[in-house]
Amino acid sequence: MKIIDILNAGKVTVSCELFPPKHGSQLSGAKLVVSETAKLNPSFISITCGAGGSTGDRTVSLAGEAQNVCGVTALAHLTCISAGRDSIKGVLAELASLGIENILALRGDLPEGQTSPAGHYRYASDLMREIRDYGGFCIGGACYPEGHPESATLQEDVDNLKIKVDCGCRFLTTQMFFDNNVLYNYMFRLLRSGVDVPIVAGVMPVIDGRQINRICKLSGTALPPRFKAIVDRFSSQPAAMVQAGVAYATEQIIDLVANGVRHVHLYTMNKPDIAGKIMSNLSEIFA
Ligand code: FAD
Repeated sequence: MKIIDILNAGKVTVSCELFPPKHGSQLSGAKLVVSETAKLNPSFISITCGAGGSTGDRTVSLAGEAQNVCGVTALAHLTCISAGRDSIKGVLAELASLGIENILALRGDLPEGQTSPAGHYRYASDLMREIRDYGGFCIGGACYPEGHPESATLQEDVDNLKIKVDCGCRFLTTQMFFDNNVLYNYMFRLLRSGVDVPIVAGVMPVIDGRQINRICKLSGTALPPRFKAIVDRFSSQPAAMVQAGVAYATEQIIDLVANGVRHVHLYTMNKPDIAGKIMSNLSEIFA
């Protein structure tokens, strides 16, 4: 099923993101994570691909596993920063042969020391145009409520999103954020700028307080004081941090849905038990 049809069906949706293991480690563990996540009955499962397209073949096989073995619609991430046209077309053919109809088309992060893309595709929108011309896929893209770290201004970043939409992007998934007001202001700005595709709000349950400062620094995400206090207080007590992280994400989602956000994407970090706790807390809201 195409994700745009799931998003336009008029219900609140919750989807889950998983990542494939690096080359050299077994795929069987990741398949188990896919099947445990599928049991939660998410609206769709997305599978990331490693930086610069590494693990791309594993993204394709796990997307196939989610959809064809576990029966949940799959969204395969595809990056283009160091890809040639032939390799991209090869991946598109593989995805099509597995019946996968949804791609999150991304540029990917610049390798360290590089200031602009060196491959055939410069921006995610170039990849989107390629996929659109290939045909048959529902294309999604990434967006950044606090601005992409390379953009001079938030408005410049939003204007570039309009190019993505013009190149065939049907929906946008946000970078994680911990302050819902940031998302509400951003959604208002998107609409005012003519970016009117469905927005899927990316929520990350933080269950490891030690990782969060590094993740926020890399993604440019701000930590609101209320959240920082939780991390400061509980990060040295793993079980308490899990409870607090699940509670924070649960409350964050309740507030999002209460304010009219219809689509939530959980950055599960391959932890179906954590996603399961949140989804069970919200079972009536997602019913
Ligand atoms: P783009 O849309 O190309 O944007 C990159 C920068 O260029 C932005 O500053 C933008 O404003 C600017 N820009 C865009 N178009 C133009 C234009 N036409 N002219 C001038 N400037 C322009 N990374 C991975 O490696 N694997 C993954 O699986 C992955 N999944 C992700 C999922 C989500 C939901 C998100 C939010 C991010 C994900 N990323 C992933 C990270 C992403 O690859 C990086 O953030 C990357 O730096 C930018 O990718 P993009 O697709 O947003 O790029």
